[in-house]
Amino acid sequence: MTDLTARMRAVRERVVSAATDAGRDPREVRILVAVKTQPTEEILAALDAGATVLGHNRVDELAGSGPALSAPDVLGHEMHLIGHLQSNKINAALPWTTCVQSIESTRRARKIDEAVGRRLDAGEGIGPRRQPRPLDVMIQVNTSREPTKHGVDPESAVDLAAYVGERPHLRLTGLMTIGANSPDAGLVRASYTELAELRERIGQEVGGLGALELSMGMSGDIEPAVAAGATIVRVGTAVFGPRPAPARPDPHE
Ligand SMILES: *Cc1c(COP(=O)(O)O)cnc(C)c1O
Repeated sequence: MTDLTARMRAVRERVVSAATDAGRDPREVRILVAVKTQPTEEILAALDAGATVLGHNRVDELAGSGPALSAPDVLGHEMHLIGHLQSNKINAALPWTTCVQSIESTRRARKIDEAVGRRLDAGEGIGPRRQPRPLDVMIQVNTSREPTKHGVDPESAVDLAAYVGERPHLRLTGLMTIGANSPDAGLVRASYTELAELRERIGQEVGGLGALELSMGMSGDIEPAVAAGATIVRVGTAVFGPRPAPARPDPHE
């Protein structure tokens, strides 16, 4: 067994025991492997080790690894964008992802919707298989209210969900948050409980949406996220080990 396989297995075991402790079915929780800064060989190794959902943070890395990851002999997987999507990068992202988890404003949602519409009109489709379908999107909510974090304020999330729900080329599939970056376990839990409560409110106040996912929890806090209802946890360092420090600070993380 490779190190990567052992670490993937350990992450799965954490999810299973957290779900079991919370009285949930562990099969309700998928593991998204966060691959930022990993070389393509390492991402391919994660697929061999059983990863089925991957997430890139940066559009340049997403597009850079896209051709290798969509080669015919590569194991099937979903690729999500979990980092900030700037307007001028939308067109570069759409050929390589079928789910953008970081929708945080009506303005950006409209631009993405229009860009998907243009691709579909041109017969280009989205994602590595160039499918003629709407783009899955999640609303990123700033549950920790840390000013440096991306995401819509919790107070505006219901309105944004209603707006996204009406875009013809977007399909709202869930809510995403980055938990409070705090040693205070109560604060971290509060982020995740708040996202779960927002899903309830959106379900009640916005019609026509299917069941929404909750994308929350990272290597350090899988357990409270699963306890609060996560259906996707996003895990990087617990799978790959610590990331090398970036050469310069990255304003988009
Ligand atoms: C990097 C990243 C993760 C994974 O973080 P780890 O602490 O390495 O598990 C999850 N979500 C987002 C948005 C990330 O950028």
